[in-house]
Amino acid sequence: MDFDVVVVGGGPAGLAAAIKADERGERVLVIEREARLGGILKQCIHDGFGVVRFGEKLSGPEYADRFISQLKQTKVQTSLFSFVTHAEKSEKGFHLTYVCKDGVKNVRCNRLILATGCRERTRNGIFIHGDRCAGVYTAGAAQNLVNMLGVMPGKKVVILGSGDIGLIMARRLTLEGATVVGVYEAKPTPSGLTRNIHQCLHDFDIPLHLSQTVTRVFGEERLQEVEICDVDDKMRPIAGTEQRVQCDCLVLAVGLIPENELARSLTVPLDPCTKGAFVDQNCQTLVDGVFACGNALHVNDLVDYVSESGEIAACGAASGPRKLLNIDKEGKLLYIVPQRLDVNAPADKVVMYFRASEELQNQCLTVSVDGETVFTKNYRRLLPPEMERIVLDLGKAATAQRIVVRLEDK
Ligand SMILES: Cc1cc2nc3c(=O)[nH]c(=O)nc-3n(C[C@H](O)[C@H](O)[C@H](O)COP(=O)(O)OP(=O)(O)OC[C@H]3O[C@@H](n4cnc5c(N)ncnc54)[C@H](O)[C@@H]3O)c2cc1C
Repeated sequence: MDFDVVVVGGGPAGLAAAIKADERGERVLVIEREARLGGILKQCIHDGFGVVRFGEKLSGPEYADRFISQLKQTKVQTSLFSFVTHAEKSEKGFHLTYVCKDGVKNVRCNRLILATGCRERTRNGIFIHGDRCAGVYTAGAAQNLVNMLGVMPGKKVVILGSGDIGLIMARRLTLEGATVVGVYEAKPTPSGLTRNIHQCLHDFDIPLHLSQTVTRVFGEERLQEVEICDVDDKMRPIAGTEQRVQCDCLVLAVGLIPENELARSLTVPLDPCTKGAFVDQNCQTLVDGVFACGNALHVNDLVDYVSESGEIAACGAASGPRKLLNIDKEGKLLYIVPQRLDVNAPADKVVMYFRASEELQNQCLTVSVDGETVFTKNYRRLLPPEMERIVLDLGKAATAQRIVVRLEDK
């Protein structure tokens, strides 16, 4: 088993990467642990996907299907029900071990594209104490039960976390007949897109409680109550503010973490700001030949950009050795991607994604190469939940010493 490219993960990032690599004439294998391609989109049956790429509001399965249909026209091979457990680099390329229905298999490739998506933070990850009763789900698990298996996770629901997934689940469970008692958010501002606050909460009269969190759960076999507390400005529960709310289901939408076990096993350095790999403009990590894209690279809010990063990763085969220059971030930026520039590779259309570190008004983003400003853009408002995308011409940076991206007051 020998391929030019192996893509791990058959979600939107992996599908886009595989199609693009095939277009370039490479022998490609996609390894996916689930029974079907499409990644998390299979269970996202609401619309809003593909507005940037197709100019249409598609559901998750419809968006995925456009790529799966295209993939079927290519020579790309797929291995479903296959879980990559180990990856190793040698002089002969990359050696992957995966477990599938036929047992344990090995495959070799020249380039490895990691498109493994995210996993969700759980109850243990945010230290919710109390009984070990049934009825506590991550939002993804609850979404899978309702949308894929047709099973309701509960009748009276508390949702913790006001990111987009929490908001969408609040609406979904209401539409299916549950009562959503409220969405609770530890931060003083909601984490999801403004349009989702309106379309998922306001339109359905679902209350949003800011600066409050769930600290404990109660229930012998099934969840019966949760304890809610006010939090201080550091999001720590304030003693004496405890109140109990009756419910039989707690849905946790408290964050996604890029899935990077394989990257770690290949000693790929990870950025503490994104929890994904440090990459250059071709989505190539700091380990030559290993690429990362989609939510495995950083948590995206639009699937269109997930597909875009898959395509960038597929096109990123270097023709010679790389020379990497740091791209530094300064000011009020939470993160930037890419964090490196390969000055030996084309750099006239560098796609950069960034998020602001807090809610900000009247900001100016500047990009400078050795002190000379090469890009500026003004923003009236920036919100951390809304990822921004810019395209930079860094073609003149070939001999530069320093590139800085800075966000500051106008
Ligand atoms: C629970 C949940 C709900 C979401 N809901 C929305 C939403 O409503 N709207 C929205 O715009 N975005 C939503 N997102 C964001 C969504 O994840 C992205 O838009 C997009 O699907 C990310 O694509 P991806 O290909 O990077 O990852 P994924 O779609 O997560 O695909 C990754 C794939 O990699 C596979 N994989 C991982 N590790 C291995 C391994 N070791 N071996 C083999 N296969 C592996 C997984 O099985 C999966 O199929 C949601 C995310 C989550 C986690």
